[in-house]
Amino acid sequence: MLPKNVADLLNEQINKEFYSAYLYLEMNNYFERRGLHGFAHWYHVQALEELDHAMLIYQYLHDEEFDVKLKAIANPTHAFVADRDVLETALDHEKYVTASIHAIYETALDENDFRTQQFLDWFIKEQAEEEVNAKEMLTKIDLFETDSKALYLIDRELSYRVHEAPAKLEL
Ligand code: MG
Repeated sequence: MLPKNVADLLNEQINKEFYSAYLYLEMNNYFERRGLHGFAHWYHVQALEELDHAMLIYQYLHDEEFDVKLKAIANPTHAFVADRDVLETALDHEKYVTASIHAIYETALDENDFRTQQFLDWFIKEQAEEEVNAKEMLTKIDLFETDSKALYLIDRELSYRVHEAPAKLEL
């Protein structure tokens, strides 16, 4: 049986991960409108990863016999006006999610909930990768956004991103 405060935070985290998927789909929308289909694809894959994160937590709570409550997902309100704006929002959002995961871990530590600590290890590593990816996207745009040929090549490179579901996600 998970401590209730830990389980409630994980339940809220499911919503945050679904919201992340929504936010990345909005970024996909923006880049589709821009005609940068590689960027759009990259955020589409990112949205699918967020759904994986939500489902991993959903599955974990079910395995622990917690009664999951699904809540309304907020609509993304940010109106993107420039490419850099999107990439900066993505980095800020990942930092927010990292803080949220760390806060759950801290609660699990306080509660001597060793199982959740171990479950969250994967997420802590994943968040470090998410932040690196988001920073690399920003670096690319800062270096090359005014060079249309470079932007074309980056867009093509991003179109090759493949969605890989986490191995432990049993669908
Ligand atoms: Mg996530």
